[in-house]
Amino acid sequence: MARLVMKFGGTSVANLDRIRNVAQRVKREVEAGHEVAVVVSAMAGTTNQLVGWCQELSPLHDAREYDAVVATGEQVTAGLTAIALQSIGVDARSWMGWQIAVETDGQHGKARINDIEGDELIDRMKSGQVPVVAGFQGIGPDNRVTTLGRGGSDTSAVALAAALKADRCDIYTDVDGIYTTDPRIVAKARKLAKITYEEMLELASVGAKVLQTRSVELAMKERVRVQVLSSFSDAPGTMVVDEDEIVEQEIVAGIAYSRDEAKVTVRRVPDKPGIAAAIFVPLAQANINVDMIVQNVAEDGTTDMTFTVGKTDLALAQSCLETVRNDIGYAEISTDMDVAKLSVVGVGMRSHAGVAGTMFKTLADRGINIQVISTSEIKVSVLIAAEYTELAVRALHSAYELDA
Ligand code: ADP
Ligand code: ASP
Ligand code: MG
Repeated sequence: MARLVMKFGGTSVANLDRIRNVAQRVKREVEAGHEVAVVVSAMAGTTNQLVGWCQELSPLHDAREYDAVVATGEQVTAGLTAIALQSIGVDARSWMGWQIAVETDGQHGKARINDIEGDELIDRMKSGQVPVVAGFQGIGPDNRVTTLGRGGSDTSAVALAAALKADRCDIYTDVDGIYTTDPRIVAKARKLAKITYEEMLELASVGAKVLQTRSVELAMKERVRVQVLSSFSDAPGTMVVDEDEIVEQEIVAGIAYSRDEAKVTVRRVPDKPGIAAAIFVPLAQANINVDMIVQNVAEDGTTDMTFTVGKTDLALAQSCLETVRNDIGYAEISTDMDVAKLSVVGVGMRSHAGVAGTMFKTLADRGINIQVISTSEIKVSVLIAAEYTELAVRALHSAYELDA
């Protein structure tokens, strides 16, 4: 007998038939003698619609009200899944984040979980009940509903698995595991039997949506065993494991892309000490994450500072830089939404040179211009025009000999 957390993503609960399918899968585990807690996302498309409504009313809306709106998607699926389970004879009840409680910090819209009170749920699981938890949501220090950032129900699931001391956290989604790259854009992507926490963390942080970054971080820290698998088939999934559990390590584990970032260029700022701080400190204070940064110095003593922020933060970043315009003393700000970030990830990069070179050459051969570069110990990322995303990912996938 094991204790399992089973998390089902948006496509897996997209309609009533799929919710019935989820209930059957849960029933199977319960009948096998396991204690099960379920975490659900909103129905596919629902969160986008809710976010869209907030944006439409006001692009710079109150993040507390945004949370009140977008958390509702998961409330619906948690209730429906509990009903579906009850209707096939499985004792179940729904739990909203605040009821458990899933305590988060106060960063509305991208809150982090501080603590989950697990005792009540453990008692109920021991007595044979299945808790169905609304993912993506918690409660902040202001006693208001918070959400965990897009894709956050993965993090709900891993945090719950840690709090419940579960033996495993199974993430059921619409692909049957973690691939060398997004299998929806590269048909030759290969499914990995195992991937290291570190590589998965890096892949997630550069755009591989299959797991939310924070969920991998948490799994690594809390030693939660995570498996990614399909809710539509019984194919074996991918286990996220420690480095020493992988015998033959590839140099490149995978390739990811993200179209979620926008490029901002602050033009003609004085090239003097303190200028980077004058730009980036106010952005940080506004809770805006800056990703890639490049600085070009001109001969006239000014410099252009180019960086990327999440597209959803672009309006806020622009208004933030407007308010500190006099302190920075720039000529103008230009922005570009039509960019994509491509990243190559692998722990083998620590010991093998030439990974970045292969990337630059492969893109150059296809006439694709690189706008910004950033690297870490196990990753190389480049920013390119969004129209070349698919072409570039496929070319890189072949160049690193990852094709199935
Ligand atoms: P869910 O709604 O179940 O949380 P997501 O859409 O968030 O599902 O994540 C699953 C998607 O992640 C897949 O449909 C796939 O397109 C995408 N994806 C991106 N990179 C990868 C990868 N390396 N391996 C598997 N899936 C990936
Ligand atoms: N429903 C939320 C989203 O679409 C959370 C999730 O699916 O993980 O971002
Ligand atoms: Mg997801």
